[in-house]
Amino acid sequence: MSERPCAIVTGGSRGIGRAVAVRLAVEGHDIAFCSRAVDDHVKETLELIRAEGADAVHEVCDVNDLASARAFITQVEEQLGPIAVLVNSAGVVRDGAFFRMSGEDWDTVLGTNLTGTFNLCRGVLFGMMRRKAGAIVNVSSIVGERASAMQVNYAAAKAGVNGLTRSLAKEVAAHGVRVNAVAPGFIETDMTAELDDKVREAALAMTPQRRFGTPDMVADLVSFLVSPRAEFITGQIVHVDGGISL
Ligand code: NAP
Repeated sequence: MSERPCAIVTGGSRGIGRAVAVRLAVEGHDIAFCSRAVDDHVKETLELIRAEGADAVHEVCDVNDLASARAFITQVEEQLGPIAVLVNSAGVVRDGAFFRMSGEDWDTVLGTNLTGTFNLCRGVLFGMMRRKAGAIVNVSSIVGERASAMQVNYAAAKAGVNGLTRSLAKEVAAHGVRVNAVAPGFIETDMTAELDDKVREAALAMTPQRRFGTPDMVADLVSFLVSPRAEFITGQIVHVDGGISL
């Protein structure tokens, strides 16, 4: 086990989670990340992290499943030591008209984005409080605060993430644990690659900078929020969105 602090990143195999995992490795953390699949994305992320001289662990874990989340955390503690940082980036969308939205689409989106965040926070918090040190960042969305037609499930989940973030931050601040969220606008990842041309054009038109962001732009913010430079910042939902929320 190395002397480096350990960071967990859920959904670290691709997209924003991968960028965060690699950035935290560059900044001196050992990294554990999870995803449901074991695929080439996982292999590439492991290589990118190890290229930075950090230890890297991947576990299959569905964040929506409490037992799976607990087993993941136990594995990480055994292999990398106490968890200093948790970034909840695992997320999915199941967009569509509300009148046609199935219970399964609702449950999947709420389960991954919101219950998944609860499961991981619940799993790491006791240790962080006992050590009086820890930083959590939840990856929310502008849709947590801004209405978005055809995304009622996602908007409800991310609004829940924002509420969880603020209230948990208040509850554990005196125990040395900080909890913040980042709220990205449109970021180039597999998630937005699914958007059709009309939706992409509308997204660009709504964004004052007239561009999509990159996963590295979100990673910059997350790395700041988990660092000692942000020691007096907790309970905040910080936007990284090219101005779309203005
Ligand atoms: P992405 O490229 O689709 O990556 C999603 C990651 O989450 C993958 O590693 C995926 O791996 C993992 N994942 C999905 N469901 C999971 C589950 N149940 N348990 C464990 N891992 C799971 O998505 P992204 O764009 O990077 O999004 C990351 C976060 O940013 C999400 O919370 C998303 O809501 C938020 N966000 C994204 C944007 C955007 O424009 N891209 C904007 C605002 C907010 P597997 O599929 O193998 O499980």
